[in-house]
Amino acid sequence: MEALKFLSSQQAKDIAAEFGTPVYVYDRASLEANASAALAFPNAFGLTVRFAMKSCPNANILRIFRDLGLHMDASSGYEVQRAILGGIPADRISLSTQEFPEDFAELHRFGVRFNACSLDQLRRFGQLFPSNRCGVRFNPGLGSGGTGKTNVGGPHSSFGIWHEWADQVEAIAAEHKVEITRIHTHIGSGSDPAVWEKVAQMSLDLVRRFPQVTTLNLGGGYKVARMTEERSTDLKKIGIPVKQAFETLAEETGRKIHLEIEPGTFLVANAGAIITSIQDIVTTGGSEGAKFLKLDGGMTEILRPSLYAAQHPLIVVPKSNQASEAEQTENYLVVGHCCESGDILTTGKDDPEALQPRTLTTAKSGDLLVIEGAGAYCAGMSAKNYNSFPEAAEVLVGKDRIAHLIRKRQKLEQIFQNEVTVV
Ligand SMILES: *Cc1c(COP(=O)(O)O)cnc(C)c1O
Repeated sequence: MEALKFLSSQQAKDIAAEFGTPVYVYDRASLEANASAALAFPNAFGLTVRFAMKSCPNANILRIFRDLGLHMDASSGYEVQRAILGGIPADRISLSTQEFPEDFAELHRFGVRFNACSLDQLRRFGQLFPSNRCGVRFNPGLGSGGTGKTNVGGPHSSFGIWHEWADQVEAIAAEHKVEITRIHTHIGSGSDPAVWEKVAQMSLDLVRRFPQVTTLNLGGGYKVARMTEERSTDLKKIGIPVKQAFETLAEETGRKIHLEIEPGTFLVANAGAIITSIQDIVTTGGSEGAKFLKLDGGMTEILRPSLYAAQHPLIVVPKSNQASEAEQTENYLVVGHCCESGDILTTGKDDPEALQPRTLTTAKSGDLLVIEGAGAYCAGMSAKNYNSFPEAAEVLVGKDRIAHLIRKRQKLEQIFQNEVTVV
């Protein structure tokens, strides 16, 4: 059975009592430890670590990382604005986006770095800012991710410019006198380390081809073990051959390339949890009968299990402290509170359509259930407001172990405040 990662049972109960459930909880000490590990990534000629802010965009998280020297990776013009409003200097933000923002010119003048992610984006950049410097995101032709939906490289991925179109990149850049000074690749979340290393080598081949490039950004995607049977990527291990490849390039060409990485998951996944309450327990009969725990949260807080069968540790925290009770276990299907059959936390390991009962501490209605490994792609990526459930509160546990509210629970009126009644 899985265990709590940074909370104690008592602290989970205290936070639930003070802030209500469901509630996201982040742990500052874990965030800082993860940042230190990322900053220790092997590198030959300097390193910039960017936090992929889409994974957990609360300004407090951004500011903690800013104060440790991290820069930001934004995925839309809105994320750029949000980071700036949250106190991140514009020249520490890099934008790699599927949608070229309408206000791009303004963002560029602020000093935001840009990676053109399609030939059309490069053309538009060149038209707006001829003779300026720009980065280019390539699709290296290989991808890797936990699932088909988290894979963002290869012929079935729309992210970045296909590596064989480098000629066209050169032609567009020449037409507008744009200097390509950065190359960017990011192949997926939860990548296979061997594939990641191979892509790093392929990216260096692109660096050779573009002589003005001074920075190579290898993206994120470092796998983190949420469940005990999973394995985390060892950044030290995958970084060493990459460092050597940078050194080889320098020996052969004299070019000392600066390295950037931009992890999201690695920095936040296991530094966040969701505390929910078990609000009902139901059973079905017959030979395939099951026992269900119904939470007061679900896809409105965490979409990953429904979306890609992601496995998150689920820990029952009994209300009473009787040790004998805590030792008993049962098999449960755990479901969320939405009127949606896909609102399930115990999806099959490789198949979001399948259900897989979990052995958990025997639970009673009113007990807490903590969803672990929920720091990345949960608060920022949920089926928010479905069934008109309000957005959950967020809490940050400081190094003093005191829990601070960092986002209030939404009020009902806020859900429909922009509706215009015309009937
Ligand atoms: C999402 C994303 C990342 C972060 O991916 P993780 O798997 O969370 O590390 C980094 N770079 C880009 C361009 C991304 O889109």
